[in-house]
Amino acid sequence: MNAIIGLSELMPQENLNDLQKHYLNDIKRVSKALLGIINNILDFSKIEAGKMEVVPVHYDVYALFDEIASMCRFIAQGKELKFESYRSPDLPQIVFGDEIRIKQVITNVVNNAVKYTREGYVSFKMLKETNENGKEFILALIEDTGIGIRQEDMSKLFGSFQRLNTNKNRRISGTGLGLAITKQFLDIMDGEIEVESEYKKGSIFKVRLPLIEGDPDKIEKEGVISNFVYARKDVTTNILVADDASVNLTVAKGYLAAHKFEIDTCENGVQALNMVKQKKYDLVFLDHMMPEMDGTEACKNIRALGTEYSKNLPIIALSANAVSGARDLFIESGMNDFISKPIDGVELNRALAKWLPKENIEFGDNKENTTDKHTGDRTAINEILWTHDERSFFRELSGIDGLDPQEGVAHLGGNLKEYTKVLRQLTEDLDEKAQKIKTYLEKEDWENYSILVHAYKGVCSIIGEKALSEQALKLETASKTILDKKQTKNSGINFCKQETPTFLRNIFSFRDNLLKTSLTAKDEKSEIEKTKAELSFTAEKLSQLEKACNAFSPSDANTVAGELKKITVDDKTDEYIKEICKLTDSFRFAEAAEKIKELRAALKIEV
Ligand code: ADP
Repeated sequence: MNAIIGLSELMPQENLNDLQKHYLNDIKRVSKALLGIINNILDFSKIEAGKMEVVPVHYDVYALFDEIASMCRFIAQGKELKFESYRSPDLPQIVFGDEIRIKQVITNVVNNAVKYTREGYVSFKMLKETNENGKEFILALIEDTGIGIRQEDMSKLFGSFQRLNTNKNRRISGTGLGLAITKQFLDIMDGEIEVESEYKKGSIFKVRLPLIEGDPDKIEKEGVISNFVYARKDVTTNILVADDASVNLTVAKGYLAAHKFEIDTCENGVQALNMVKQKKYDLVFLDHMMPEMDGTEACKNIRALGTEYSKNLPIIALSANAVSGARDLFIESGMNDFISKPIDGVELNRALAKWLPKENIEFGDNKENTTDKHTGDRTAINEILWTHDERSFFRELSGIDGLDPQEGVAHLGGNLKEYTKVLRQLTEDLDEKAQKIKTYLEKEDWENYSILVHAYKGVCSIIGEKALSEQALKLETASKTILDKKQTKNSGINFCKQETPTFLRNIFSFRDNLLKTSLTAKDEKSEIEKTKAELSFTAEKLSQLEKACNAFSPSDANTVAGELKKITVDDKTDEYIKEICKLTDSFRFAEAAEKIKELRAALKIEV
C-alpha cells in the first residue's frame, strides 16, 4: 500500500491529460481509503488476540493537535463545512502517553464528525480538564451539526462492525470498526469516551485521557517539537531577501518578522550584490527569476567577491520552480539550500535553524500564538480568534469567484492581517505591472515578460487564486519556449499575443471584485478606529491583570493573561505583554505589576 500511495504521490502530473489526472487522483484517494480499512482490521484482530500494547512516549501534544486539525480541516473544506479548532493554552505542550494510539483515537472521532455532517460545522477543541478529585485529563471535545444518533442506537455505537442508520449512510464509506477500536484503545489507556447526540441535530463526543506531563528532553522524534527559531535579543541578525515581486517580499517579511529578525529587501540580483558588499548579512534569500540579474548569477557574483564573509555567507534560493533538477542548479551556483514558494513556515523555520549562526538564535515555543503563525502550519486558521469584522471580510472574500481565501490565509501562516496586506498590495501595483507586461509584449522582450508573468504565477498561487495562477503559468511556459528558441517558438509568440489580453482582463476583473469588498474600506480611518478599540481592550485587560497580581490570584491572572496573549497591537507592545505574561506564569506578580505600569505609560493609557 505504501508503494502504491507513495509512487502515485511521486508521479509527475505535468504531462498528463485531464482524464489521466482524474484516474491518478482516484488511485490516490481509493488506496488511502483501502489502507485505512486494512489498518482497522489489523488493529481489531490485534485487540481481539490480546496483543495490543500501549507504548507510551514523551511527545508534543500541540503538534499532534495541529496535525489532526489540519488534516480534518482539509477534508471538511472539501465538503464546504465550517471547521473550527481551538487548543487551550493551559494544556501542557509535552505530555507522556501512547502518541500513535491517541492520535488514531482522536482522528477517528473528528473524522467521523466530518463524515457524518452534511452542512453546518465541526468544531474540534483540545483542553485541559480537572475532575473533582483533582485528577487532570486531556479532553478532546468534538462537536458537529451532523445527522446525529438515535437514542435507541446509542448502545450499538461502540460495537464492532456496527454501522447505524445504514439506509441513510449507505453512501458514506466505513466499516463500523472505528469506534469499536477507539473504545478498546481508550480502555487500555485508562481513557474514556462520552457521547451526547440529538438525532438530525448533531453530536458531541468527549474523549478523555489521563494527563501526564512529559519531559521535553526525552522527546524521541527529532524536530517534532515545534521549536521556533527566534532572533537573540543581544545580537543583531540581518537577513536580506531579494525578490522582484513586491507581494512575495511582503510574504517573506511577514514570516521573518514573526521570528524577530532585522530584514532588508531588494528587487533584483544587482541590488542584492551591492547590499551584500555594503552590509554584513547573516543570511540571504535570493529569488531565482529576477530582472537584471537572476538569483543564481547573483550568488555566483557574491561568491566571486572572494572574502571569507562572501564565501561563507549562507545563501538560500527561493523558487516556485519545485521541479527536480532545480535544486542542483541552485547548489551548483553556490547556494546552500533551497526553499520552495509559496513559503511554508515549517520549511522556513527549518532553514533558519540550519543556516543561521547558532549564537544568533534561540529556540522558543509557540505557546502564545494560537493562530500558529509560528509553525506556519498551512491550514491552521483559528477563526475563533477573529473579530467580527475580520470574519465578515473573510466571508466577502470567499464570495469572490475563483478565490480560495482559506488557502491564501493558510499560506500566510493563518494570519489574516498579512493576507489582507498582500491583497492590498496586489491591487495597488497592478496598473503599473500590467502596463509593463503590455510593453514587453509589444517590444517582444520575452525575457522580462516571462519574469513578470512568472511573478504573477507565484503571487496568485499564494493568495489562493488558482485559475489566474494557472493562466500565468501557461504564459510563462509559452514565453520560455520562445526564449529557448524551440521549434514551437512561433506558436509560443502567437499564444502570448492572443492570451495576454485575456489574462490581464481577468486579473483586472479580479481586482475590481477585490475592491468591492471592504478591503479598501479598511482604510486609515477604520484602522485608527480599530487601533483605538484594541487599545481600550488592552487597557481594560491590563487593569484586570494588575488587580489579579495585586491580589496574588494565580487563577485570575492566568485567565486574563491568556486573553492578553491573543491580542496583537504592535511589536513593542506585544513584546511587553509577552514579558508580563511570562512573569505572571512564574508567579512573579510584583514584577508583573511593575511592568504593567511601564507598558501603560508607554501606551499613554490613563488609569
Ligand atoms: P464507520 O467506519 O462506519 O464510520 P465507526 O465505528 O467510526 O464506523 O462509527 C460507527 C457508526 O456510528 C457509524 O457508521 C455512524 O452510523 C455512527 N456515527 C459515528 N460518528 C458519528 C457522528 N459524529 N454523527 C453521527 N453518526 C455517527
